[in-house]
Formats: sequence, C-alpha cells, structure tokens
Amino acid sequence: MSDPTWLPEVLRNAGLEVHEYPGWRDRGHGDFGNIWGVVCHHTGSFGESPRGIAEHPSLDLASQLHLSPEGVYTVCGAGIAWHAGEGAYPGLPTNAANQYTIGIEAANDGGGRPGLPHRASWSDAQYDAYVRGVAAILDYLGQPASHAIGHKEWAGSAQGKWDPGAIDMNIFRADVARAMNGDNTTEGDENMLDAIIKNFRGNSLKFRDLFWWMDKNTSLTKDQLMGPDEKGWKILGASKVDAKRDNTLVEALAEVRADIAEIRRTLAGGK
Ligand SMILES: [Zn+2]
Repeated sequence: MSDPTWLPEVLRNAGLEVHEYPGWRDRGHGDFGNIWGVVCHHTGSFGESPRGIAEHPSLDLASQLHLSPEGVYTVCGAGIAWHAGEGAYPGLPTNAANQYTIGIEAANDGGGRPGLPHRASWSDAQYDAYVRGVAAILDYLGQPASHAIGHKEWAGSAQGKWDPGAIDMNIFRADVARAMNGDNTTEGDENMLDAIIKNFRGNSLKFRDLFWWMDKNTSLTKDQLMGPDEKGWKILGASKVDAKRDNTLVEALAEVRADIAEIRRTLAGGK
C-alpha cells in the first residue's frame, strides 16, 4: 500500500461525482503505509470549501476528501492528513490514526449540537454519497464496514469531539455494509435479498417501504401455497386433512403422488 491515488477512480466507479483539487497528488504530511479504514468528520459548516480542507490555515491538508452538501467529493490530497488528532480505537494505535486512515470532511454542521437524531442535518444526497463513498473505499481496501469510524468514536474522550453530528455510527456502518454487499452483486447473479438491498440502497430510513415490499411478496407466496385466505384452492379439490377447506398446493401434490402410486400398482398387478 501507498498513497491513495486511486481515490478518484474508486469513487467514480461507485457512481459518485468527484472533483480533483489542484495539486492533490503531491499534497500531504508524508506517505501512507497500510490503510486501516476511514474516519468520518463534519466540518462544522455547510459552507466549508474543498480549499479549506486542502489548504487549512493551521493544518495544511486536513483530510483527503471533502464532501459537499450536494454529495460531490473533492480529492484534496493523497498523502497523510491531519484530521484525527489524539484518540484511541480498537485496531488502531493510540494517538496515531492519521497514518492509517483516510479522512472525509463532510460540509455539514451536524445540527449545531451533539445528540440530534440520525440524519437530522443530512440531505439524502450528502448522506447517500457518504455511505457509498465509504463503502467503495473499504471495498477497495478489502476492509469490512466496521473499519469506518466517526471522529467522535476515535477522539471523544481525548478531545471531546462530537463529529459527525447527527449520524449514529452503528446505523451508518450498517448502511455501509449494505452498500458493500450491493456493490459486490453482479447482474444476473442476484439472490432475493441482494435485490431488495439494491432496491433500497441509499434509502436506509424507509424501512416502512421495505417491510411493505417484503410483506407483499410474502403474502403472494403464501397465497400460492395456501390459497386465498388460507382456505385452499377450489380447483385442487376438497382437502382430506381439513374438511372446512380445499387442498393446499402441498396437499394436492401429495394426492397426485398417491394417485400415481395407485396407477403403478394397478399396472403392475395387471401384468
Ligand atoms: Zn473531525
């Protein structure tokens, strides 16, 4: 591993819009070794520019990536950036996350204070791009969704950081995991769950729709097996198991098998 000069291509391949800030390939505080994952931040304001991240007045390169409120990425630098500061997290050396992680600074105020509900200050466009971008990076690195952490998880105790605000990192990681599964699915090789996930990718909060869709399909499947209102199918004849209803698909199949066995016995006896 070395500097993540692959960022623009990897993000574009995930269908994301990517700008390249002039000089990004050569900007940074030294070269990367192995990259463990991603640290997610918010900048504190919706108006923060890519320039403010690439040429931060005190930090110089403050993160490799800037993410606009419209969901557009700008690659600000490929070298090590100073974004994490002091902190600790399982899998990372204490007070040394910058050499092992890619920082993403999303232009967002996080709702202005800690503790707001998930996505309270995040547009669909920005949140979806955040999830898909992190998924694409981790996918490329061969790392699981658990390697996406919030600055608040890294630095919370040491620095009192609360970014990214209005993002529940557990929900975020679950969304990243779903996006990674979706990206791994090749056309014509989808199972049902992958198809559902793909359909709802980027709409993680619309669980009501997801359950409606699942219930509709489950009901259709049950109707085929059990008949309307679980009363069996009139066209399959009266049930021998339950006199109050007609045959289900399974009962009808059992009757057909019994009939065939009967025919075989008759034919054998007739010889
Ligand atoms: Zn931060």
